[in-house]
Amino acid sequence: MKEISCKLLVIGAGPGGYVCAIRAGQLGVDTVIVEAGKPGGTCLNVGCIPSKALIHAAEEFEKVAHMAGGKSPLGISVTAPVLDLARTIAWKDGIVSRLNGGVAGLLKKAGVKTVHGWARFRDGKTVEVETETGSQVIRAETIVIATGSAPVELLPFGGPVISSTEALALSEVPKRLAVVGGGYIGLELGMAFAKMGAKVTVVEALPRVLAQYDAELTRPVVKRLAALGVEVMTGAKAKGLSTKGDALLVETSDGKSGKVAADKILVTVGRKPVTEGWGLEQIDLDRAGKFIRIDDQCRTSMRGVFAIGDVTGEPMLAHRAMAQGEMVAEIVAGHKRSWDKRSIPAVCFTDPELVTAGLSPEEAKALGEIKIGLFPFAANGRAMTKLAEDGFVRVVARADNHLVLGIQAVGQGVSELSAAFGLALEIGARLEDIAGTIHAHPTQGEGFQEAALKALGHALHI
Ligand code: FAD
Repeated sequence: MKEISCKLLVIGAGPGGYVCAIRAGQLGVDTVIVEAGKPGGTCLNVGCIPSKALIHAAEEFEKVAHMAGGKSPLGISVTAPVLDLARTIAWKDGIVSRLNGGVAGLLKKAGVKTVHGWARFRDGKTVEVETETGSQVIRAETIVIATGSAPVELLPFGGPVISSTEALALSEVPKRLAVVGGGYIGLELGMAFAKMGAKVTVVEALPRVLAQYDAELTRPVVKRLAALGVEVMTGAKAKGLSTKGDALLVETSDGKSGKVAADKILVTVGRKPVTEGWGLEQIDLDRAGKFIRIDDQCRTSMRGVFAIGDVTGEPMLAHRAMAQGEMVAEIVAGHKRSWDKRSIPAVCFTDPELVTAGLSPEEAKALGEIKIGLFPFAANGRAMTKLAEDGFVRVVARADNHLVLGIQAVGQGVSELSAAFGLALEIGARLEDIAGTIHAHPTQGEGFQEAALKALGHALHI
């Protein structure tokens, strides 16, 4: 059996693992990364990137279909568009494959050795990898677990029941799509399929979709779901599949049984950490529920073993995994590092998009007196020119010293404002800093400045 040794071994080349390995390589740490699938992990292969490609294609299709219906106020009319989903998927696959090559190239450039195969722990310093050419043993001073997450299988996957992974590879738009779970993945994909012509029904057990956000923030998304003809059943639980496999069986909150006719049933009820089937029990790490417990520096309960990304719990976001990966690499290289998770933004790429960073108004209120400024895009010139008037930016700050605690926005294209929101929190901005920053006109970003002005009591455009 072939054996190699290294200073750092990273298991999993998702955004957490590959960023960790690249940074460690840049710092001269002798690094090996093991990946069972393709570089880029869930995010690049079956998550962030493919879903955003599909969402974009669906948006374009719906825009043109809207124009073809003679409904565009822009004075543009076209003939009815035709969607060839198989070509859309091939285009998406092309982007994924370019980026797979990009990640592999960056690892190589940083001097990282990549081993392809499934890793299994032997002990806290040794891993065995099943490669195509046989087993390989890797000994490392430090190991980083970055094995990510997998979809929760509320109903057994197979036949009409699919996860987000299969939904991103369909070659035809299902006529009727039932989406189980009204979280961000379910709504992003459900809305995209609705735009492409599917009759979509969302089945959500909680009383609201996107229930982790406040109702004011999600209202424009709920309105748009209705406009797209998406039926939303809240307080309803998925119970199984009809005998013929052509309907989802549901139980409503009043205990009644019902059926949702469906050609495909997309289950998006959350993701679970990948902690089984690869010998993790050999090293018996402390857990936080199903996730690996970590401290502020991503150290696990075993010396020399770190864990990063989805395998360590919420928020399961690619940029959180990357930030953890970069920090751990620097710690391994001997740097003093810590990180502040308060400023991690989260984006739902629904229509309209939704961004949050820092504390919600409710969370902030629990800490003391606050000021809130909300600026609606209906009063923003740029939003009007883009038919994007539905939505707003909301800034939450301490009442005494005006320190910004949280920022939320909902509206078309607001994902691009997430960088400004994250920066404001990271640098500890006060309302006056945002209000005093000259924002280019006409941009939706002006909504951020105006929301801060509003919180200070002197908004200019409302
Ligand atoms: P992963 O990306 O899951 O990577 C883990 C890797 O480890 C995998 O490649 C796996 O093959 C490998 N692996 C596991 N076990 C072993 C083993 N024993 N040996 C070898 N290799 C192993 N996040 C966002 O921030 N923005 C978004 O827009 C977004 N959209 C999403 C859309 C969808 C449909 C989904 C499913 C997820 C989305 N996410 C999004 C979440 C994001 O994909 C994850 O948070 C991110 O991928 C986590 O990165 P990670 O490095 O922890 O793990």
